[in-house]
Amino acid sequence: MTRDPRYDILFEPIKIGPVTAKNRFYQVPHCTGSGWHHPRTLAGLREMKAEGGWAVVNTEYCSVHPAVDDPPHPCASLWDDGDVRAHALMTEKVHAHGALAGVELCLGGASVANLGTREVALGVSSMPNLAGNPFQTRAMDLSDIREVRRWHRNAALRAKTAGFDIAYVYATHGYLLSQFLSAKHNQRTDEYGGSIENRVRLIREIIEDTKEAVGDTMAVAVRFSAETNGGGGGDGNPVAGETREMFEILGELPDLWDINVSDYSLEMGLSRFVEQGSLEPYVAAIKSLTTKPVVTVGRFTSPDMMVSHIKRGVMDFVGAARPSIADPFLPKKIEEGRLEDIRECIGCNVCYVGDGKGFPIRCTQNPTMSEEWRRGWHPEKIEDKGSDSRVLIVGAGPAGLEAAHALGKRGYDVVLAEATRDLGGRVTREAGLPGLSEWIRVRDYRLQQLEKMPNVEIFRESELGVEDALAVGADHIAIATGSTWRRDGFGAANSRGISNLGPLENLFTADDIMAGNLPSGPTIVFDDDHYYMGSVLAERLRESGLPVTLVTPEDAVSAWGKFTQDRWRGQSRLMEMGVDLITGHNISSFDGAAATLQCNYTGTEKPLKVQSLVLVTARTPMDSLYQALTTRIAEGVEGAPKSLKRIGDCEAPAIIAAAVFSGHRYARELDATLDLDNPLKHDRVFFEDG
Ligand code: ADP
Ligand code: SF4
Repeated sequence: MTRDPRYDILFEPIKIGPVTAKNRFYQVPHCTGSGWHHPRTLAGLREMKAEGGWAVVNTEYCSVHPAVDDPPHPCASLWDDGDVRAHALMTEKVHAHGALAGVELCLGGASVANLGTREVALGVSSMPNLAGNPFQTRAMDLSDIREVRRWHRNAALRAKTAGFDIAYVYATHGYLLSQFLSAKHNQRTDEYGGSIENRVRLIREIIEDTKEAVGDTMAVAVRFSAETNGGGGGDGNPVAGETREMFEILGELPDLWDINVSDYSLEMGLSRFVEQGSLEPYVAAIKSLTTKPVVTVGRFTSPDMMVSHIKRGVMDFVGAARPSIADPFLPKKIEEGRLEDIRECIGCNVCYVGDGKGFPIRCTQNPTMSEEWRRGWHPEKIEDKGSDSRVLIVGAGPAGLEAAHALGKRGYDVVLAEATRDLGGRVTREAGLPGLSEWIRVRDYRLQQLEKMPNVEIFRESELGVEDALAVGADHIAIATGSTWRRDGFGAANSRGISNLGPLENLFTADDIMAGNLPSGPTIVFDDDHYYMGSVLAERLRESGLPVTLVTPEDAVSAWGKFTQDRWRGQSRLMEMGVDLITGHNISSFDGAAATLQCNYTGTEKPLKVQSLVLVTARTPMDSLYQALTTRIAEGVEGAPKSLKRIGDCEAPAIIAAAVFSGHRYARELDATLDLDNPLKHDRVFFEDG
């Protein structure tokens, strides 16, 4: 197949200073949770983007000196020759596919506390750490400013040695340079503070330093916020007056502008709260302020929307972080006219968790993310089948669907049996909850692929028992029957459940609500799960008109959701809807008329009059079929399969990304020779000379 001529514009080469991007697909800098810790993992991951057709592939934020260090967030670094060699692993692989490699050089300011290196952080003034650490910056004097410029220049030179084609000057997201730009943060009285000309001075100098040092062969890009910097600190106005004035000074200096907004929860907004292309009002005016190419993001997965943004002059490059994670081959698929094969990002931000918790990035839609090097997994290619086996998969949730998809691609004969009429399991159910509609893409991508596979048979409304499963005569059986939410309060805060729980008809679980069985009267949603479910259910019930109180043992609503950005906007929405929030409390009893809440700190109990209680605590794996089959096989039943496994939530309830991974892994490992002691290659930094 060939591409639709409507999309030709996406494949035009674009000059960026001294280098040329082969098309308009631009992977903007994004965190990977690998940073300097896992150089081979990172090189494998970035290579996949280049192979998938992205013309530019960038690193994540890259510290220029040990005085910019941000644990537990794993940043990249360019401190020494060892770092140069580590980055060269990536640039060589990116170049091998004809793409450009960019590095996002970073100065930290009050956003970093240097907890690892113990260097004092330098700031525009003596100000508290913006990430909540009880550390302040040292106000930079003029010699510090000279020093910081030297660090940046030296890092740019190292970047050149490492083979990079683009060096960033990073002037947004609250890091040092954006603090200099901000009228709110920059209270200096010297030539670096006060007037706009003074506040942009350091950025101007660093752009000029970088161009002078490496500009003969490398392009210089500036990452800049369309609103906050110019607006005096977070006024949220698209292209406020100050931004225009800043562009009058800086507009023509760099070779490329990478424009976003400083509010991460908008820039990389969850699909729960933010639609695709939502930065348009912010960035649209920027292009008229410069003749240089502009890139921006917007969770673009639709080529029509990409074309429309380019034709309407919003941007020159299609910037992407998440769409390139969910599908590193997005450009290739557009180029080859295979739009139905695009694995669209669902906007869940599971890919952001690795940055907050310090582990290699993963993705709900793309189970191969970060596994390119350490497990040798390619997002589009998979080993041919290892035998002529027939495989039965029971349950068509995300685990079962992905197992069937990947096994089908390997060429196995697959039978997929699902108890209900609808396929998709929890994904289909959860996509009906407020804000989660895009999650259905997890099901739809896989169904679309399965439809093309004559070797995969799907049986709906087929609830299998032990004899049914054995009667299929499969060589291998995978049980992907999922889990159910518990009704007894058992969970992290109540390891024996909640002892006094009132009439069953007043008790509800997430499964009830998703099945349309709603409570009545004043209702508590008890969230001992701490991710999105408690908050989304509270929203659903409040929408239906019930008085709702969300109670959680954590000190914040959706506490784990801080890693995905569910927490803040989720809590704001509940408050705006009139949901009462009670944090730091457990529930010790409920009788259908009132619940007893217990303070986590003092043990003090207080009653709350409510009629219904929704428990969002833990889940029970639905593994009875697996257990029964295990017993029958141990008894020596005739026609027993060669292997029986459980996958996904049936093995261990977790997030959807874990179920997809589990299904994919099952498919990859069938008939493979496994080293159980070393299931994956262990990445680490071990260059002998630095
Ligand atoms: P996971 O997240 O692990 O994929 P889900 O709960 O989303 O799990 O999906 C499990 C699927 O398994 C559901 O669609 C459910 O209807 C189906 N299922 C459960 N038991 C059986 C069974 N005995 N036979 C066929 N399908 C089953
Ligand atoms: Fe998109 Fe979710 Fe994958 Fe991130 S984890 S790229 S938000 S699908």
